[in-house]
Amino acid sequence: MQAPAIPAQEIERLKALRASALLDTPAEERFDRLTRLAKRIFGSRIALLSLVDADRQWFKSRQGLAVPETGRALSFCGHAILAREILEVPDASQDPRFFDNPLVTGEPRIRFYAGAPVRSPDGWPLGTLCIIDDHPRTLTEDERLSLRELADCVEDELSTIDRRRLASVARQTTNGVVITDLDGRIEWVNEGFTRLTSYGLDEVRGRSPGSILQGAETHSQTITEMRTALAERSPFEVEVLNYDRRGQAYWVHINCSQLLDAYGRPEGFVAIQSNITEIKLAERMKQELTSTVSHELRTPLTAIAGAIGLLNGGAAGVLSEPARKLVTMADKSTQRLRALIDQLLDMENLLAGKTLFAFENLALRPLLDQALGELQPFAEAHGVGLTLAACADQARVHTDGARFQQVLSNLLSNAIKFSPQGSDVAVSATATTQVIRVEVRDRGPGIDPEFHPHIFQKFAQADASDTRQRGGTGLGLAITRELIEQMHGRIGFESSPGDGATFWFELPLAPGKASPEPGAAQDRPGQDKPMFPN
Ligand code: ADP
Repeated sequence: MQAPAIPAQEIERLKALRASALLDTPAEERFDRLTRLAKRIFGSRIALLSLVDADRQWFKSRQGLAVPETGRALSFCGHAILAREILEVPDASQDPRFFDNPLVTGEPRIRFYAGAPVRSPDGWPLGTLCIIDDHPRTLTEDERLSLRELADCVEDELSTIDRRRLASVARQTTNGVVITDLDGRIEWVNEGFTRLTSYGLDEVRGRSPGSILQGAETHSQTITEMRTALAERSPFEVEVLNYDRRGQAYWVHINCSQLLDAYGRPEGFVAIQSNITEIKLAERMKQELTSTVSHELRTPLTAIAGAIGLLNGGAAGVLSEPARKLVTMADKSTQRLRALIDQLLDMENLLAGKTLFAFENLALRPLLDQALGELQPFAEAHGVGLTLAACADQARVHTDGARFQQVLSNLLSNAIKFSPQGSDVAVSATATTQVIRVEVRDRGPGIDPEFHPHIFQKFAQADASDTRQRGGTGLGLAITRELIEQMHGRIGFESSPGDGATFWFELPLAPGKASPEPGAAQDRPGQDKPMFPN
């Protein structure tokens, strides 16, 4: 006896079987009608709708057989689901796969078997519609067609269940659901859509969602993004400002994907719209709060720093040793607070797209020399060496010089802070035909793999005590990544704990000639330099 082979992608097939929610459910007339019909048309002893589960076949409908299931290894249907065509076994006692099968040698003494595979709406073979007899026989071509058509009827029933279930989910969900044809004209909307927009189905049928919902302040870039995706028939996700029937603006997150028919052919689109107005509002309030608080903090802080400066300068007389210590502590804390506020404002401007970039084509080497020069005293204070290990000297980079410095000094100061005394931080720069790549390597503790996914997040620090021990806010890398991405580059790192870390970034190689003065990029905003709001 040969047990049936396990189909390729069996896990996916079993998932589809579970999703059909048919296993171990009571008999249903709409399937029983079809197996009764099969038994009558073919005059067979047994007719079954069999579902092939992981290690059994279970009969959703059975005529002429008392047992509700048998083992998969013994099953004929397990063989039948391996192909698209009907599996016909004219005489099982003569078939090397089945002659010694207990269902052939014992009850129900199968001789003849014919099974047509039954597929789920998305094409997974779930089982068969099969007929069984206790004497050898063969099917005529007509009979084979009839068996296939009965199996098609079973498949139609399966997709009706699917559609009914989908329709009830779509009706009940609080999200808006819009179904359009391939040209993007609305065919159906659910009640959630009506609640969201105050438009009923009759008012919107045949129109495009964009023509009804988008208005004055909807970003044109988002509209183009959606139109392009629809034209290419690719799925998309966007956040967009829409307007309801009364002209009230609201934000929605739209998830749009293609709708396929029972044969897998595209027949339209389904878009799920969820209302994110409150989230957007909260986001804006948070940003505004950060910005207001930071601005408001700056003024008194400047006054405090000024007063500390005066105390240090002897304006209130010579300080006693304990007083000098306290003033020094206050000075350090003030500097930290100022750095934090500056970084918060930086981040906020970057995220709000308010940061202006003055892009230029700059020689790479002077940019690196400048950054290394500026960080040299900081490295010396930490007892760490700073070296330029390699540089593609002729390379030019398309960047904003000052922002480039900000990125590199962030990476360098991190590398220095985390380096053991006496070790070196090495910078190297290479160029390909497309990009320049700068790497900063240190010999510090490296980065714990658990922290890897968080390292570029705002306020992320692997060890909370870092703020006290090494200074820093956990904002540096978040800002650095934002800067690099807004300069059309990439950033990343490699590190195993205990083996140091290498942070790298890539920026576009400059086309054509460069202006070799990196310092020139710093006096911004320059009169004659192009300014790109980003
Ligand atoms: P911070 O201002 O605290 O340095 P960053 O965003 O620059 O903030 O860095 C976030 C965290 O990433 C640091 O607190 C540290 O845990 C980790 N980190 C950054 N660079 C390195 C490095 N070179 N070696 C080890 N850990 C690092």
